[in-house]
Amino acid sequence: MKTVKSDQKYDLIVIGGGASGLMSAGTAATKGKQVLLLEKNDRLGNKLRITGGGRCNITNATFDRREFLAKFGRNEQFLYSPFAQFGVGDTFKFFESRGLPLVVEARQRTFPRSQKAVDVFRVMERFVTNKNVTIIKNNPVLKISADKDAGLIVSVKTKLGTYYAENFIIATGGSSHPKTGSTGDGFKWLIGLGHTVKKPTPSVVPLRVSDSWVKDLSGTSLSFMKITFFVEGRKAFSETGKILFTHFGLSGPLILNSAHRVADLLHEGAVTAKIDCYPDTDLGSLEKQVLKIFDQNKNKTFKNIAKEITPKGLDQTLLNFRIISDSDRRVHEITRDERKQLTRFLKALPLSVEGLMSLDRAVISDGGVPLTEVDPKTMKSKLYRNLYLTGDILHINRPSGGYSLQLCWTTGYVAGQLN
Ligand SMILES: Cc1cc2nc3c(=O)[nH]c(=O)nc-3n(C[C@H](O)[C@H](O)[C@H](O)COP(=O)(O)OP(=O)(O)OC[C@H]3O[C@@H](n4cnc5c(N)ncnc54)[C@H](O)[C@@H]3O)c2cc1C
Repeated sequence: MKTVKSDQKYDLIVIGGGASGLMSAGTAATKGKQVLLLEKNDRLGNKLRITGGGRCNITNATFDRREFLAKFGRNEQFLYSPFAQFGVGDTFKFFESRGLPLVVEARQRTFPRSQKAVDVFRVMERFVTNKNVTIIKNNPVLKISADKDAGLIVSVKTKLGTYYAENFIIATGGSSHPKTGSTGDGFKWLIGLGHTVKKPTPSVVPLRVSDSWVKDLSGTSLSFMKITFFVEGRKAFSETGKILFTHFGLSGPLILNSAHRVADLLHEGAVTAKIDCYPDTDLGSLEKQVLKIFDQNKNKTFKNIAKEITPKGLDQTLLNFRIISDSDRRVHEITRDERKQLTRFLKALPLSVEGLMSLDRAVISDGGVPLTEVDPKTMKSKLYRNLYLTGDILHINRPSGGYSLQLCWTTGYVAGQLN
């Protein structure tokens, strides 16, 4: 790292030392550009260090570009050009060649073999530890000055002074988990500069539910559940996968990725849901299985066999619902109707969705600069000839599973070319 000369004009100023800012700063420096990296926190990469629950889902090992980009819906076309320059395979090469082996887990989610997000951060930190990069931490950018008529950014004003450069990259992130530093500053500047910014709302985010049974299960995770959402009693959509119960509601990949659709439903009316604990077994077959367990345990109390008919961890929930009144009764005393009711319950645990958790809990915020205002070949703003935009500042909806960080590596790399 070098000391700052206030009269120096840099080739590039990167605002924000998160995933995409680090990638773009390091890339430009590798090409011999003099880079100034400005970060408002007292350390770089705060969000990167907590990704993937501290394990960092660094990318998604879907090497077929078409298949990978299909996950981005209407933004798919835009992304072909940046991904042709730096795709999933390049992410593997980038990290593995810098001594960070990667492992692919379920659904192609890819993590460092060490299972430590901080190791990913360390690679990026080394990448910007370059004679061409000057880093100033603890120095929030307060204002960006531009010559609007000429379509040029001129300087950035910070707590410690004003800095000038030929080029600028805004990599200040979105608005999720603002404690990490992503407080939406970039959005305010960009609006002032004449860009459109879709107001960020939580997108990949847990759900709040009012049911106490869910809260009682806090910490339990069930790996193969089907959840069906209803709006005003009408079936809306179903998803199958892992559900994590928390003290405020539901989380886990399935829920996080369903949240934006639930948000739409909440505009239409009251949203309820039903969880099917045995999505692979139809009601008739499940009834037979329960009957078999009952027949084998006729003289035991219902309380003692509840574990055998529920997925692991749900037996107490079943007892608390009192589908079978008095769980001290012997199994042979339970009527056929009660047993059928019990089976129906296992196929449809009821829930009331109150809403989405706030931006504080969101993995991704849905919002930012529309891609129509950015050149896909360069990540350059269409309004300013020397301004580039990377990472979460862009309005790109995507699922969880490593797609967000891959976008940061890709857009950061492309912007760092300064084409
Ligand atoms: C809890 C959590 C877990 C996640 N896990 C994953 C995962 O496993 N895999 C995945 O693909 N994605 C994950 N994501 C999403 C991913 O972390 C983000 O998409 C990514 O970090 C965005 O990077 P970025 O460079 O756009 O911005 P950020 O990482 O948000 O960095 C922005 C930087 O800009 C700085 N900054 C802001 N304003 C200023 C200013 N005025 N002056 C100077 N500096 C400023 C901030 O302090 C910050 O350092 C997760 C997100 C969260 C919240």
